[in-house]
Amino acid sequence: MRLDQLCSAKPRTLSFEFFPPKNDRAWYTLEDTIDQLAPLGPDFVSVTYGAGGSTRSKTREVVQHIQTKTGLTAMAHLTCVNATRSDLHQLLAEYQSAGIENLLALRGDPPKGQERFTPTDGGCTYALDLIDLINARGGFAIACAAFPEKHPDAIDRSSDWGNLQRKLEHGACLAITQCFFHVQPYQELVAHLHRRMGRPARIIPGILPITSLAALERFSALCGATIPAALRAELAPFSHDAIGMRRAGMAYTIRFCHELLSLGAPGLHIYALNRSTAAAEIVTSLRMMGSLA
Ligand SMILES: Cc1cc2nc3c(=O)[nH]c(=O)nc-3n(C[C@H](O)[C@H](O)[C@H](O)COP(=O)(O)OP(=O)(O)OC[C@H]3O[C@@H](n4cnc5c(N)ncnc54)[C@H](O)[C@@H]3O)c2cc1C
Repeated sequence: MRLDQLCSAKPRTLSFEFFPPKNDRAWYTLEDTIDQLAPLGPDFVSVTYGAGGSTRSKTREVVQHIQTKTGLTAMAHLTCVNATRSDLHQLLAEYQSAGIENLLALRGDPPKGQERFTPTDGGCTYALDLIDLINARGGFAIACAAFPEKHPDAIDRSSDWGNLQRKLEHGACLAITQCFFHVQPYQELVAHLHRRMGRPARIIPGILPITSLAALERFSALCGATIPAALRAELAPFSHDAIGMRRAGMAYTIRFCHELLSLGAPGLHIYALNRSTAAAEIVTSLRMMGSLA
């Protein structure tokens, strides 16, 4: 199903994000994860797109595999990194022949070893350019990325959110956020867009299951998210107790999701990291609490 049709049909969605496996063993793990998570009935799943090499064709392979094997709606991530416009057109043609109709259009992170994103000659500079390129071709539903705490390169939230507004106005039917760990920036982003656009925008919170402080710190540093003092305080007593740490982190994650849904968030996009346990725990708990259908 196309995501734009899904958005019209469902006010709230549940989705999971995976990344392309690097070897055969990781393929089996991902297949197992999908088998475990599919019965939870996600509205869609998405597959990330690497900075180069074989992970790129694997995105298409994994999306196709998911669509064929499980019948789940799937979305391929696509970036501007190391691609000319002609490369992107070629890729879109391949996606179309593979029956892929949902794309998360992104600028992309700089490849390993590069500090800043450098546009490819003859390529796209911003995600907005990619959205325009995809739209000009037609045939795809498009989603985009959002940053409740602003994108790390942006001067301020207002200019970053202005750029997000343009992506939505140029045809992205929804945005999925980078991970964040307190509701306030999300509420402010949603209110800002509503004011500027005169209608609610579909901004789906991206949820990172918190299973350890070390992983949380690593992800937060990568994506520029702040760790609230209250969350640190909840995890602090468990620095030598991995099980206690996981329990406290997951309890925080579930409360956070509940709060976001209570505030009217149009769904949750869980960064499953190719594992099923934490994602399934979040969904099951929220269903038991009655906050997720
Ligand atoms: C849900 C999600 C999934 C992701 N999946 C992947 C993935 O699979 N692969 C991957 O490599 N990365 C992925 N990323 C990371 C993403 O590619 C990076 O965060 C990237 O740095 C920004 O991408 P964007 O699409 O938001 O870029 P853009 O929207 O282009 O924004 C990038 C920066 O440029 C600014 N900007 C935008 N338009 C303009 C303009 N017209 N003029 C001036 N400034 C402008 C923005 O404010 C921002 O600071 C993902 C991020 C999210 C939130």
